[in-house]
Amino acid sequence: MGFSTDAIHAGQETDPTTGAVSVPIYQTSTYEMVELGKTTGYDYARTINPTRAALERSIAALERGQRGFAFASGMAGINAVFSMLSSGDHVVISENVYGGTFRLINGVLKNFGLTFTFVDSSNQAAIESAMTGSTKMVFIETPTNPILTLTDIEATASLCRRRGCDLVVDNTFMSPFLQSPLELGADLVVHSTTKFLNGHSDSVGGAVVAVKKEHIERLHFIQKSAGAVLSPMDSWLVLRGIKTLGVRMERHESNARTIADFLDGHEKVRRVLYPGLDSHPQHALAARQARGFGGMISFELGSYDAAKRFLDALQICTLAESLGGVETLISHSASMTHASVPQHERQRLGIKDDLVRLSVGIEDAEDLIADLRRGLDRIEA
Ligand SMILES: *Cc1c(COP(=O)(O)O)cnc(C)c1O
Repeated sequence: MGFSTDAIHAGQETDPTTGAVSVPIYQTSTYEMVELGKTTGYDYARTINPTRAALERSIAALERGQRGFAFASGMAGINAVFSMLSSGDHVVISENVYGGTFRLINGVLKNFGLTFTFVDSSNQAAIESAMTGSTKMVFIETPTNPILTLTDIEATASLCRRRGCDLVVDNTFMSPFLQSPLELGADLVVHSTTKFLNGHSDSVGGAVVAVKKEHIERLHFIQKSAGAVLSPMDSWLVLRGIKTLGVRMERHESNARTIADFLDGHEKVRRVLYPGLDSHPQHALAARQARGFGGMISFELGSYDAAKRFLDALQICTLAESLGGVETLISHSASMTHASVPQHERQRLGIKDDLVRLSVGIEDAEDLIADLRRGLDRIEA
């Protein structure tokens, strides 16, 4: 089936008992047994819930995987993936990962005997030379946040196969509409459903999609044991969001292209980072491994002061963390999403104090451009 047909129907079958077209919200913690020793297939809602199960089938279908797992947040999903490892195991990870992933590793997981090497994963040789005999996993985010650096998924997957480790891709920024890491050879995909999948800035959630039997069994065990499951209400919200993922992503992307071109030609904008621009150093890779360039744009305004004047003048673009909603959200990475990354590390990664990140929404492009122009006009020449 085509993507949007799956987005509307896969996992979201009509309810067999009532014919309800929308998957019901099964707001229950437990299920009555048929008789002693016999259940309906449902026993307790941490282990299984029909609304969550529908979402898990839906996301698995969209990512072209075998099985999906829904978690209480993107971070809970990422934590579940790392929970598959054992003390002594080593992970190679993109140095420019989501700030929360960085914090989870440095503040929590390192205390459990797991070791991590952060590398510039846009460089295949850097990934390979960081691998040791204990490397069990390579974790990449592509494009990265907020610098929008890409990692070659197919090349990294074949490196991982050669070295006998698993490749995990955080696909939050592209969504399954634009990028299919599992088809390019990745073993696991993680998502913050909070972003494009739900798309309406009204739910926090996460998902993991697996292909291999051993991963599926382990993740299922971790999900029910650690229990960071997505609630029935949130599962339903994400199911509803997913139905329009295709049309939303098309609009996010077409608005983003228009805005990237506008910013790229503006005298007060130092530099625009958008994989869809010819000037992006990995434009060709972006065109090859994804079906589009997405809705995220970062740009530099010259100084913190310029960024502040610009941000404070905006009226439509909302100054807030997060991304992927129907509304355009704008953020200052250094002081917001990446505040937990030490200053010297931010500088090294290129997350400078003048960098602004735009999650382009699905409003009318002309209105967004007028708003951005209002902000740029406030910057002194
Ligand atoms: C937001 C985000 C996460 C974390 O997800 P939460 O739902 O906020 O826990 C992980 N990875 C990326 C790329 C994100 O943007």
